[in-house]
Amino acid sequence: MDHRGRLKKLQGVLGENRLDALLVTHLPNVHYLCGFTGSAGALVINEAGAWFFSDGRYREQAQAEVEGCGVVIAKKPPLAAAAEWLIARAAKKRSLTRMLGIESEHLSVAGRTQLARLLRAEFRLRETLGLVERLRMVKDANEIKCLRAAGILGASLFERALEMIRPGVKETEVAAEMEYTARRAGAAEMSFPTIIAAGKRSALPHGRASQEAIPARGFVVCDFGVILAGYCSDRTRTVHVGRISREARRMYEAVREAQRAAVEVVRDGVSVADVDDAARKVLRKKDLAKHFTHSTGHGVGLEIHEAPRVAAGQTEVLRVGMVITIEPGVYIAGNGGVRIEDVVVVTERGYEVLAPASTELITI
Ligand code: ZN
Ligand code: ZN
Repeated sequence: MDHRGRLKKLQGVLGENRLDALLVTHLPNVHYLCGFTGSAGALVINEAGAWFFSDGRYREQAQAEVEGCGVVIAKKPPLAAAAEWLIARAAKKRSLTRMLGIESEHLSVAGRTQLARLLRAEFRLRETLGLVERLRMVKDANEIKCLRAAGILGASLFERALEMIRPGVKETEVAAEMEYTARRAGAAEMSFPTIIAAGKRSALPHGRASQEAIPARGFVVCDFGVILAGYCSDRTRTVHVGRISREARRMYEAVREAQRAAVEVVRDGVSVADVDDAARKVLRKKDLAKHFTHSTGHGVGLEIHEAPRVAAGQTEVLRVGMVITIEPGVYIAGNGGVRIEDVVVVTERGYEVLAPASTELITI
């Protein structure tokens, strides 16, 4: 991974954000910028360089993983260590108030208070929003390779789900078998708690697997993903158990058409709002748009949900290397729901679906 190149890009935007330095505390951002995968770390980046802070537990791991930064192993938590280091450095030069960027979405109120106290009058804090997340939106070739590999492993779990889904089987039993299969295949963990939502519960867009048994008839929404080599997969397929009504089939085909329509507009230069609208337009025509109650998708990478949001009103424009999900759904309370989701990469030629697989309705 080109950590030095990433750090350099970030150094290049400090000036335009009127920052003398940026303190990065969000661990996925730390991971992205310097390669560290542990659970205690922070980065300080200024125009002269970058420094990584962690504690003694991570001495060896930091040495093995961290690239492009000085490594400081301290006897205190990374935030305090970074503040102390900044003060010591400031003292060496003529004292003037400097502007330190903080990640406003990720630093707690307590953390900010502590930082302000430790940095006294030497530094002023400036809230920044998504500076690293902006860089992370566009994936490099190696990241896309990782996402593809995660996608293929993730997709294979659906086979196990199909073997398990039968009336009377608990949702958690289906999820457990999928998660066991994932770990056996080398996944570090699931990218989020597996969603198996059967029958009426399929109308819950985020129906985590419960102890309910799969009923004799109805949809089963399966939304699942793994983390492999740091990168997340995300996929949804919906199957139907028992005899399917005309109305339910119509609903399924509408979601399928909406999903395909949104995937097909993905290309460099298209706004995420237009992708969202492509899905919504299909459902509007079928009078189902009011039951599509969430956004069409989200970026995916080191985190399961990252920028950009694929939703109405968002102004982000797709660029080659961006990776997003396309996951329209229709949910009718007390009845059932359908969602279909794939991960799509924006390519020079248009798009690539990661681990492409049929979306044709499967009935069990
Ligand atoms: Zn999903
Ligand atoms: Zn998703």
